[in-house]
Amino acid sequence: MGKAGETGTTGRIGRIGGVGAVAVALGLALAGGCGRATGVPGAPASGGGAAAERSGAMAKCDAEWDGSLTPEQRRVLREKGTERAFTGAYWDHHEEGTYRCAGCGLELFSSQHKYDSGSGWPSFWQPVAPEAVATEADGSFGMRRTEVLCPRCGGHLGHVFEDGPQPTGLRYCINSAALRFEPAAPGK
Ligand code: FE
Repeated sequence: MGKAGETGTTGRIGRIGGVGAVAVALGLALAGGCGRATGVPGAPASGGGAAAERSGAMAKCDAEWDGSLTPEQRRVLREKGTERAFTGAYWDHHEEGTYRCAGCGLELFSSQHKYDSGSGWPSFWQPVAPEAVATEADGSFGMRRTEVLCPRCGGHLGHVFEDGPQPTGLRYCINSAALRFEPAAPGK
């Protein structure tokens, strides 16, 4: 429901396009990451990985991921899969707390910004901080969408659309399988 506007990928999303560039750089770093030694002979210590290091990027091989993820988490995070609507753990979840990346534990979203979109997927109108997620243009399945990724491990989280509520007008449509909920501490 409420999917009108999915093809509109300009406007507010364009404003956070700079983060997408980081994602591209991160993707490149990850592409060469698996199996590489940290001290590559001939590679300067302050080489091209500096940006990735600043963002705390972690390069993991698929084999490493496989050992720490459930099959559904792996399908979503590593193979850009999408869980079926109304089936995930968090689409109808209303506890107060933090939603972390199921792959690496990075803090991504807060229950304060979660809302019922009616879509069957956990929906947020903003991430916990502007730099908490990365975005990238996604032209798969003949659609123009904006993919949302974990900026640290590169895991696929979902997509962001421009049919969300104010004040941002954005709808971060995220797979439950990409998230791990952490309840707020008592008294918070
Ligand atoms: Fe992550």
